Amino acid sequence: MAQDILLKNARLIDCISDQPQERMSVLIRGDRIIDIINGDGPAGPEVDVVDCAGKTIMPGLIDTHVHATFVDEIDLTLFLGNGVTTARDVGGRLDEVIKLRSRLNNGELLGPRLFVCGPLLDGASEAFPHSGAIGRMLDSVPNAAAAPAKIKEIMDAGVDGIKLYYTMTPDILGACIEAVDQRLPVTGHIGMTTAQEAVDLGINGLEHMWISPYNNICPVELRFGAEMSMSSRNFSKQTFQGWEEADLQGPGTQKLFDSMAEKQVKMGTTLDLLWLANIGLEAALDDNDRIYIPQKSLRAQRALGKKVNAGVEWDIHTGFPPGNGKAALEKQKDACRILHDKGGIIVGGTDCCGIAYPPPGFALLREAELLSDAIGPMAALKAITTAAASALLKQDELGSIAKGRYADILILSRDPSTDVRNLRSVETVYRAGVAHDPKAILDAYPSRDPSELEQIPTY
Ligand SMILES: [Zn+2]
Repeated sequence: MAQDILLKNARLIDCISDQPQERMSVLIRGDRIIDIINGDGPAGPEVDVVDCAGKTIMPGLIDTHVHATFVDEIDLTLFLGNGVTTARDVGGRLDEVIKLRSRLNNGELLGPRLFVCGPLLDGASEAFPHSGAIGRMLDSVPNAAAAPAKIKEIMDAGVDGIKLYYTMTPDILGACIEAVDQRLPVTGHIGMTTAQEAVDLGINGLEHMWISPYNNICPVELRFGAEMSMSSRNFSKQTFQGWEEADLQGPGTQKLFDSMAEKQVKMGTTLDLLWLANIGLEAALDDNDRIYIPQKSLRAQRALGKKVNAGVEWDIHTGFPPGNGKAALEKQKDACRILHDKGGIIVGGTDCCGIAYPPPGFALLREAELLSDAIGPMAALKAITTAAASALLKQDELGSIAKGRYADILILSRDPSTDVRNLRSVETVYRAGVAHDPKAILDAYPSRDPSELEQIPTY
C-alpha cells in the first residue's frame, strides 16, 4: 500500500471558511483527504511528511467552462501546470469528449480531471453553421417534442451535465430541463430565451456574464435577437454599447439577480473573454502567457489574420477591435458584485481552448484577477473552487479541503487570499493524491520562444 502523505504546518485556505487558518496539517491517503489536523499531525515511518512551513495550501482550481477537444493533448498539461485540477467541457462532439474524459480521468493523459456536457444544444435554427471545426460541437433540439429523446441519447452516453445553446426558445428549453429532471446540472449560453425565462423554467446555471443575462440587463433597443449570435459581425459592438448603457439598478437586472440568488442559479462568468480589453493591446503583446497559446489556436488565428491582412496582434485577437470593451468589462464586474452581494453564486469559467488567448490554465488565473476586482480575493478563490464544484454538483467531492474530499491540493509559496496573483506561486499540484511539479510541466511544454513572437510574418 502506498504511503500516506502529510502536508505539515501550512497556512490553510480550505475555501469553506473566509479566513486562512495557521499551523494546519492535511493527511492524504490514496486519492483522498482523510484528516485535517490543527498542528503538526502524526509522524512515523508510514507517513511521507512534506514540511509546508511558510507556505499556503488550498484546493486545486476548477475551470467550469472549457472546450478541451479544440486543442492538442499536450495543451491540456497547461491546466495542471497552473494548478487547475478539474475542468468542465461545455461543448464538444459527444464521442470525442467522452473519449477524452476517460483518458484524462484514468491518468493516461496528463491534465485535469474532466467533466463533460457533450454538444451545444441549439433550437430550431443554427447559431452558426454546422460545418467546420466549431460546428462539430453543435447539435439541436428542433422542437419541444424532440427534447426527451435527445436528452436521453446524451445522458445515456454518460455526460456529467447538459449545455443549452443560443437559439433555443423557451418552449424547447423548458422541455429539455423537464427531460433532465434534475438528474444532472443544466447550464446555458442562451440568447433567444432570456435569462429570466430560463431561471423561471428551472435552469441550474448560466454561462458568460457578457451574454446570457444581457437581454434582461441592456436597454430594450439594444437587445439582440435571432440574428445576433456570438459570431455575428455586430455582436461585440452592440453588446459593448448595451453594457455601457445598462442600468444595473433597473428593474430587469434587479429582478433577475434576485431570482438567481433565490434559486442559487450558478453564474459562470468568463470575464476573461475581455482580458485583452482589460490590459490593452500593447500589454497583451508583451504578456508572457502569450507564448503558451496552443498551436491549433495559433494556426486558426493566423489564418483569420491572413484574411484581413492583419499583423502579429492576431494571435491574441478575440474578435473585436483591441481597445474596445473596457467599459463593458467594468460593468460586467459591477454586475458580478451586485449578484454576489445578493447572495448569488459566482462561478469562474474561461472559455479557454475555444478562444486562443488567454491560454488554458493561465485563463483561470486571469479570471481570478478580474473576479477579485469585482468581489474581493477570497470570494474570487471560492468562485474557482467551492462554487465551481457546486456548479458540477460535486461539492462533496471537490473544491474544498475537508475530510473525504479528493486530495486535489495546491502548495503555494505566497498567500493568494490577500492577492490572487499569488496563484502564480504554486509549487506543487496534487491531483487525487498524486504530486505534480507545475514548473516542470510548463518547462516541458513546447512554448514559443518570446523572440520568435517579434518575427511572426505579417502576411
Ligand atoms: Zn464556450
